[in-house]
Amino acid sequence: MSQSEFEIIQRYFVDSGLGFARTGVVLGIGDDAALLQLPPNRLLAISMDTLLAGVHFPATAEPALIARRALAVNLSDLAAMAATPLCFTLGLVLPESNGAWLQGFSEGLLDLARKYECPLVGGDTTHGELSITIQVQGTVDADRVLRRDGAEVGDRIYVSGFLGDGAIALASLGLDSHLGRNFALNKSQPSASCFEYFKQAYYQPKPRLELAQACASIMSSGIDISDGLYGDLKHIVTASGKGAQLRVNLFPYSDAAIACMSVDNRMQAALYGGDDYELCFTVPPKSCQALEQAALALNTKVTCIGEVIRGSEIICIDASGSELPVSTKSYDHFGNH
Ligand code: ADP
Ligand code: MG
Repeated sequence: MSQSEFEIIQRYFVDSGLGFARTGVVLGIGDDAALLQLPPNRLLAISMDTLLAGVHFPATAEPALIARRALAVNLSDLAAMAATPLCFTLGLVLPESNGAWLQGFSEGLLDLARKYECPLVGGDTTHGELSITIQVQGTVDADRVLRRDGAEVGDRIYVSGFLGDGAIALASLGLDSHLGRNFALNKSQPSASCFEYFKQAYYQPKPRLELAQACASIMSSGIDISDGLYGDLKHIVTASGKGAQLRVNLFPYSDAAIACMSVDNRMQAALYGGDDYELCFTVPPKSCQALEQAALALNTKVTCIGEVIRGSEIICIDASGSELPVSTKSYDHFGNH
């Protein structure tokens, strides 16, 4: 490495401003450990995600985009607990000390860290195949945590944003999808505007922190959709000991998804694709109006797509009320290879 580990940390993570001050962070980068002071009566929420070059992003992707995606997917997990970001740590494995790459990476990270008031407080830097591990820390009131196990029969099932964009983005960026060979765009090339839209959707998912924090007390359960709606809703269903009925004709799709994918492939992307980083949550019927008003005030799209039912399965029905077969499975790092 042309720059020492110490120089890398100092230049790209300290001098870049990533270790900015934040209430609750008593000591950040530089000592043997960071020190945090939690506000009274708040719980610490911790989550970690690793992104491997060639698996979770192309090794040649723009470093700023890799950084944004790495932090955003972690913040999405905090959103799914209705937690407020506090800070994060970074485990960085680098094949080489490339100043331009590190500069871009640091800038992408700083942009998002500032936006969500989530400074970098420490980490580890080693030599090897490119991988990025981020651990985020957040805080949440003990009585306002959003968990997977609270869904009740009759609760409405909602999702934020659009479904399927993550998986369709993979296809439009020319990356491998686990959805198989039939999962392809209508045309060999998406339009320039669709391509830009999907690139943004894939690399810059929007963690739904505001929606979760504003509405946690009226959501009975929630999860973020990282592996496809079917698999992630299944976690809610299993944890809550209930079933779910989904109305696939109500699924929200972006204009780009509609332009680029057949009806059937869109549904495959929504149910089994993953990488959407939207929230899936349940709301008792009496609170649906309040939820929709709060979402509107935050300018966040929410769509009711089904209902919690008795049982233990997820049933998908079409517009005519016919049950659809459930075919493939969500993305599984060990099951799909
Ligand atoms: P130690 O040898 O005590 O484990 P290091 O030499 O690995 O410490 O790191 C020195 C300081 O730099 C520590 O505060 C550590 O948290 C921080 N640090 C190392 N790598 C990173 C990184 N990738 N991002 C942020 N901080 C880092
Ligand atoms: Mg030490």
